[in-house]
Amino acid sequence: MRWEIPASACLRVRRCGCAVRRRKKCGRTPRNSGALWYHARMTVAPESVLKRVFGYDAFRGPQAEIIAHTIEGGDALVLMPTGGGKSLCFQIPSLIREGVGVVVSPLIALMSDQVDALRQAGVRAAYLNSTLSRNEYEAVENAVRAGELDILYLSPEGLSSDRVRNLLDECEIALFAIDEAHCVSQWGHDFRPEYLGLSSLGERFPRIPRIALTATADEPTQKEIVERLGLGHAPVFISGFDRPNIRYHVVPKANARGQLLAFLKGNHRGDAGIVYCLSRKKVDETATWLESEGFQALPYHAGLDTHVRESHQNTFVHGDAVVIVATIAFGMGIDKPDVRFVAHLDLPKSIEAYYQETGRAGRDGLPSNAWMAYGLQDVITLRQMIDGSEANEARKRLESRKIDAILGFCELTACRRPTLLGYFGEHYEGQCGNCDNCLETVQTWDATEPARKALSCVYRTGQRFGVGYVIDILLGKTNERVRRFGHEQLSTFGIGSELNVQQWRSVFRQLIARGLLRLDIEGYGALTLTDECRPLLRGDASIELRRDALKAKQAPKRARSNVDEVVSAADEPLWSALRELRRELAQAQGVPPYVVFHDATLRALVAERPKTLNDLAGMPGVGEKKLQRYGEAFLRAIASADESPEPAVTDG
Ligand code: ADP
Ligand code: ZN
Repeated sequence: MRWEIPASACLRVRRCGCAVRRRKKCGRTPRNSGALWYHARMTVAPESVLKRVFGYDAFRGPQAEIIAHTIEGGDALVLMPTGGGKSLCFQIPSLIREGVGVVVSPLIALMSDQVDALRQAGVRAAYLNSTLSRNEYEAVENAVRAGELDILYLSPEGLSSDRVRNLLDECEIALFAIDEAHCVSQWGHDFRPEYLGLSSLGERFPRIPRIALTATADEPTQKEIVERLGLGHAPVFISGFDRPNIRYHVVPKANARGQLLAFLKGNHRGDAGIVYCLSRKKVDETATWLESEGFQALPYHAGLDTHVRESHQNTFVHGDAVVIVATIAFGMGIDKPDVRFVAHLDLPKSIEAYYQETGRAGRDGLPSNAWMAYGLQDVITLRQMIDGSEANEARKRLESRKIDAILGFCELTACRRPTLLGYFGEHYEGQCGNCDNCLETVQTWDATEPARKALSCVYRTGQRFGVGYVIDILLGKTNERVRRFGHEQLSTFGIGSELNVQQWRSVFRQLIARGLLRLDIEGYGALTLTDECRPLLRGDASIELRRDALKAKQAPKRARSNVDEVVSAADEPLWSALRELRRELAQAQGVPPYVVFHDATLRALVAERPKTLNDLAGMPGVGEKKLQRYGEAFLRAIASADESPEPAVTDG
């Protein structure tokens, strides 16, 4: 990017001290006699800012295009998945364009972390919101007026206030970035009325570029963002929604706690992660239980006091290995980049919800796991929640269809990515190689006979009973209820002894997922037949089901770790030493560890073992400021870890 210096411009040049060290030229303007600096921008290439300030070598996906477009003064709508790198799209133009970049974000609690991260990289950033004292607030205002800030974070309600608007009128603005832009949409899942105030930005500041960013892809939300923010003329930049570093695992519930424990112990000792449960009670119980199993686990749900919630969130963000156990109330806008796993102990309510919740893992691009255990009871509970809600009938039907879709996703026998991305209208070709179905070939079996038995047993019992009862009849179990209904006499009583309870459950789940049976929620989860099951019942069709039905009684198979693959046992001491150093440095400044260096940077240090500052400067995520600040300390840690004697080799 080049700008010409007007021939008439004054040639007095000073270093303005900002992160990109652009040169400013003084001059006079008619409006202000003398004191104003006007800036003749020198050659500042976005790539050089990327390297010098953020320590990265290349732009990702559409970043370069978006940044060039914004620097030129264009408006834009940016749709990128979580972890795609949206922030740089407005941070770099804010550094290169004249004036301060104003970022609107709904998450006051996160502003200070975002600002800390930028300051670590040497960017002059600050925020204005209600958490500041009067003095702090005024200090930031003064800095804005003096042109001493590169980036200013504001809440949407802050931006609507006269005080802030007057402040902005007085100074030069590089751009407006509207983060989490889906909050302006009533259709979307996170509508914030305060966002509606942003619709007047374009009129009030017609010449300032506006860039709206979100990770929510669906069409109606997109349309509403464009309409409400007046971005009809602006190009839309979309990058694919795949999260290749997330490995998806879905297992049928057998003994959910045991399964979760095996997954965590096998893959995530010492990692940060989130465990989602459906109810508050289950959140509390699960957190207590995980504590007793030696994890640092904290509950998070809307029933806890605000200060408890805040403190738990804070511990999670600032800690290295904290597991948060939460209802879906947790997570929106959690910026923590090193969440290594997201586990669902209950079925999420839709594929969107699943995508969004699992998307909180691995923002830093490192291998991460999304793990889920689900069962039919979850489907019943979710359907009951919908049924009991205030929503109108059409909405209820829509929500039920969403549950059917996520159940279908769970029961897939093929690669999970085409279905997941297909849900957002994205076409995915082939096998991803990074989901359970790709990694362990799914075996299917001819389940025609058992499926017929199951369907006819549902029919014979009058389509009035739930899965548990129908399985009792198939297995020929007698109890009070069975005797009362006289079901011992049925032709289907005891005809299913070739499968055990778990296996029958799997058969029923798959029949429901494929639409051959329906769960009748008004009938408290009673199974009913659908038209789809007729050919099978008549003997005109056969059916293949996934083999896991026959393995369900075995202990859950240890998921192959994808995190261990990155740090080998030999590198473990250095890895731990670097994490410890990072923790100390972060703690001394009261910032989260990832603000010092991301895991990705530490992993690169472990792999490359740089010896000089020059080597270190080439590592991803090491910009000039961080090199100055932390370079020596990390080089020392690497040198001393490599000097320590090899552990003695003992026989046997
Ligand atoms: P989003 O806001 O889209 O969820 P972020 O802006 O937080 O994503 O970026 C996610 C992660 O990717 C961050 O750790 C960021 O430093 C890193 N990142 C972004 N762009 C690049 C790039 N061009 N090269 C390397 N890392 C990048
Ligand atoms: Zn796959």
